[in-house]
Amino acid sequence: MDKEWSSDVVLAGSTSDWCKRLPKAETNWPAGVIAAWKTLSGGSSLSLEQGLELYAEPDLASVGELAAMVKSSRFGTHVFFNSNVHVNQTNICVLACKFCAFRRGRKAKDAYAMDIETYLSEVGKFADHVDEVHSVGGLHPDWGIEHYEELFKSATTTFPHIHFKALTAVEIQHISRLSNISIETCLKRLKKAGLSSLPGGGAEILDDEVREVICRGKESSDEYLEIHRVAHRIGIPSNCTMLFATIESREQRLAHMISLRELQRETSGFQCFVPYPFLPDDSRLPNAQLATGVETLRTIAISRLMLDNIPHIKAYRMNLGDSLSELALSYGADDLDGTVHQESIMHLAGSVTPLDIDRNILGKIIENTGSIAVQRNTIYTRFSLFESKEIPPLRGLKMAS
Ligand code: SF4
Repeated sequence: MDKEWSSDVVLAGSTSDWCKRLPKAETNWPAGVIAAWKTLSGGSSLSLEQGLELYAEPDLASVGELAAMVKSSRFGTHVFFNSNVHVNQTNICVLACKFCAFRRGRKAKDAYAMDIETYLSEVGKFADHVDEVHSVGGLHPDWGIEHYEELFKSATTTFPHIHFKALTAVEIQHISRLSNISIETCLKRLKKAGLSSLPGGGAEILDDEVREVICRGKESSDEYLEIHRVAHRIGIPSNCTMLFATIESREQRLAHMISLRELQRETSGFQCFVPYPFLPDDSRLPNAQLATGVETLRTIAISRLMLDNIPHIKAYRMNLGDSLSELALSYGADDLDGTVHQESIMHLAGSVTPLDIDRNILGKIIENTGSIAVQRNTIYTRFSLFESKEIPPLRGLKMAS
């Protein structure tokens, strides 16, 4: 078995003929799951109605089995992770999305905005053991394109081995507007300064009625898609996300996935989809439906099945926690993000996922599922097998005293 290998940004380590590799459907699966298997193994995409049928299917295990089968046909027993850190450059934001526990007004006591020196020093604390910095933040009222050009130029000059995945679509839109330049010019200038890929954050639910309630003032659904379209056209790959279990219907979740799938048909620039449920603590959506563990696992499995042209489905530890993330790896997810080391947005919203997790522990979480841990780079073009060293047994539940 190769210990190291590479891929291109479109395949991102996946087999290209995964649908032909799908094993036969299990005969005891319910009709809707068998029908989904037939559609996918025939090289077609699931319809919204098929997605609704999978959401309504009482036999969740069979939906998960089909999702896990698709994951295995793409990646075998490999499960990916990376060594990364989150550095959120500012929490000052001109918007006030209802689900957001992170943003602050400029005058708040705990508002902050890192100058470039502080940003570099934050990255510097982790630079020896990460190869990715994920930077997203609030929409700062004064920071235009020049600020971010200087930030990325300084960061990539100081830390040439680190990939900077930064700025969500709404941040790109905000910077373009402040600087009076087009989205394309903004992205080209940021790319030249050292921005290497975009995270997928800010997609929430791509339905403008839902957005009006949960994130009024943010980019519209079409604008989110257009910003990613432009990024892909000029050679900036990106991820895409879905924040679910606020006020949307299952139908709106599926329509969201279909919008992303259609854009991916045009551009092939999405590498990973990250579905995560709304965390309710300390935020402002009392009417949110919230997701149970079962609904979360079902949504992850359905994401894998609906998004047949996006290679990776991520179990986002920061949001799901380690126990549910471990389970998600058996429901179609193939990627566990990540070592992380430092994270604010989900932790302010109530996440209790441990930070600063050692690569060995992450490897062990993956191995616990019977999978092989593979360390990847940010854009899924370089891979190396990872063998975790012996560590004390992982304890997911507190011991009774
Ligand atoms: S989600 Fe982003 S844009 Fe919305 S309030 Fe929070 S920081 Fe601002």
